[in-house]
Amino acid sequence: MYFREINLRNWRNISQLKIKLEEGLIVITGANAQGKSNFLEALYLLARGTLPRPARDEELITWGEELAYLSCKVQEKVGDFTREVIIRRGQAKEWRVNGRLETRKRRIWLVGYFPQDMEIVEGSPSKRRDFLDQTIDLLRPGWGRVCREYGEVLYRRNTLLREKPHSELIEVYTEKLVSLGTTLVRGRIWYLQNLTPFIQQFYRELSGEEEEIQPRYQSRGYSLQNESEIKDGLRQAFREAKAEELSRGFTLVGPHRDEVVFQKEGRDLRTFGSQGEKKTLALSLKLAEMNVVKLLTGEKVIVVLDDLFSELDEKRRKRLWSEIVSQNQVFVTTTEKLEWEEREKGAKVRILTLDRGKIYPEER
Ligand code: ATP
Ligand code: MG
Repeated sequence: MYFREINLRNWRNISQLKIKLEEGLIVITGANAQGKSNFLEALYLLARGTLPRPARDEELITWGEELAYLSCKVQEKVGDFTREVIIRRGQAKEWRVNGRLETRKRRIWLVGYFPQDMEIVEGSPSKRRDFLDQTIDLLRPGWGRVCREYGEVLYRRNTLLREKPHSELIEVYTEKLVSLGTTLVRGRIWYLQNLTPFIQQFYRELSGEEEEIQPRYQSRGYSLQNESEIKDGLRQAFREAKAEELSRGFTLVGPHRDEVVFQKEGRDLRTFGSQGEKKTLALSLKLAEMNVVKLLTGEKVIVVLDDLFSELDEKRRKRLWSEIVSQNQVFVTTTEKLEWEEREKGAKVRILTLDRGKIYPEER
């Protein structure tokens, strides 16, 4: 799967951009603030339906314009299709496939690494939960609905705990959270188990170290052995937390409080890792995601790497390149001129330049 054509209008600082693309490596060069990240974010939105970093629609439309329009033509193993999205101020985004309103989401398999992905390693537990949930959402139909429903029930339960602590509905919502929560925890553990061997492999390869990374899903106060135990454990944990929940006015137990820890030699990398170690872990997580998607779907994914190559040393750059070169289409941005020795090895490399929101089909 790869993008054959991209067409953007009034997208951030890009007023108009139209380009035909092929497989291979696409290097996007340009000075700071020319629109390189904006371009990759557009690809990410077109493929995954969300942005790598949350933003309001007004921020996406070029300042002073009314609407933004993005479209892509995607080549599949057999055939192709076009997806468009129209963003208007104060309205829901309009998604179309082959010109018709999109009711069932077509998948475009894309994995991205953006500078803010360091937060998956360094940020609050919600960043790590989102990292899991967002990709499970691509892999498992109905996942997003369970997440949303869990969030709604949680919100209602919290309101009751605060405002109507004697309501019998609290128990009804508890039981709903137990059942939805069990599905969420099982799905996350399943996905993390799939990711783990890849995370370990990439961390080893990128760092050149022997020590193994141990990812672990950490629940708060309930067991994680099997489905009935998760259910029973959650129920039990709710019973034990009830008094404290009533006094604090919110729900203290459940997958919305869970955590994923990455340990090296028994130490949590989030707290004890060096910048380089954290970066290597963040990148390993994304490469693992790429490989699990490929493994479970049989599709090669589109890869977008924002501002990454320029920050890695020569050795890591080479190792990273050998990992991603087998994918169909890889976009990387850089402010430097890179010496792409891969060119000599016969890999298809195309260099584009972004300059004040305009794209030029050459190095400048
Ligand atoms: P760097 O190398 O520093 O990462 P970049 O090429 O990735 O730079 P972008 O992050 O893509 O740069 O941003 C380019 C410019 O787009 C920024 O100067 C930003 O202010 C501008 N911009 C962002 N949103 C809008 C918008 N809605 N309308 C117009 N310009 C915008
Ligand atoms: Mg950038």
